Amino acid sequence: MNKRNILTIKNLSVEINNEPIIDNLSISINTGEVHAIMGKNGSGKSTLAKVIAGHPNYNITQGSIIFNNKKITYMEPEKRSQEGIFLAFQYPVEIHGVSNADFLRLAYNAQQKAKNEPELDPLSFFELISKQVKSIDMDPSFLARNVNEGFSGGEKKKNEILQMNILNSKLAILDETDSGLDIDALKTVSNNINNFKTSLNSIILITHYERLLNYIVPDYIHIMESGKLIYTGNASVAKQLEKYGYDSIKPKI
Ligand code: ADP
Ligand code: MG
Repeated sequence: MNKRNILTIKNLSVEINNEPIIDNLSISINTGEVHAIMGKNGSGKSTLAKVIAGHPNYNITQGSIIFNNKKITYMEPEKRSQEGIFLAFQYPVEIHGVSNADFLRLAYNAQQKAKNEPELDPLSFFELISKQVKSIDMDPSFLARNVNEGFSGGEKKKNEILQMNILNSKLAILDETDSGLDIDALKTVSNNINNFKTSLNSIILITHYERLLNYIVPDYIHIMESGKLIYTGNASVAKQLEKYGYDSIKPKI
């Protein structure tokens, strides 16, 4: 299968409350690729993830984001989701008064509708979701609970992976999905992400820790610092980071 460009970000600069966060950042991602973005706290990783997903609070001051040959720089977040962009939040929100099963079904059906494909009634959706719940080793009782309400950190992260799977995402951006997972959950979630990966979709893995990359081997590792990607290398960079820390990475240019 030939690789195809799925995401190109060109010279992107972003600010929030007049504070520059992303600084002239460029990156290009093809189908079938896993890109890890690593970096210290506050380097701008989550901001980049949210800007790709279309979070309205950020102000783009220059540059462009092209997804699947479409310019999406200023597209609404729900349209981007319909186009196949999925963001698993670093801090998933709790939604009171909405059951997880209803939330997932409504999200799924909104996408089906946008694709002119049949929506699923609660019973048929339950069949679909039950298989997915099993594959991430989640207790089915979590479907009846309100979205993320009272879920542990790890359970919230699993719930994000559940959404990724049912929404059939073309580009999954996983923002520190590994944090909060115990070692068994980390293995389950990693297996799930590896199974999700095909030659037609792409994954951006944002993480501080090298341990996730023992389970999911990225094609590229980018190091982010002060809103810039200062270094791009292959999977071996993670080993260097674990041993010598971020300060051992010298900017390429
Ligand atoms: P990372 O995910 O790499 O830890 P973030 O993207 O969350 O970094 O944050 C990058 C920088 O932007 C930090 O210095 C953070 O304080 C700042 N920042 C992010 N969101 C806001 C906001 N809403 N208001 C002010 N500063 C923000
Ligand atoms: Mg972050």
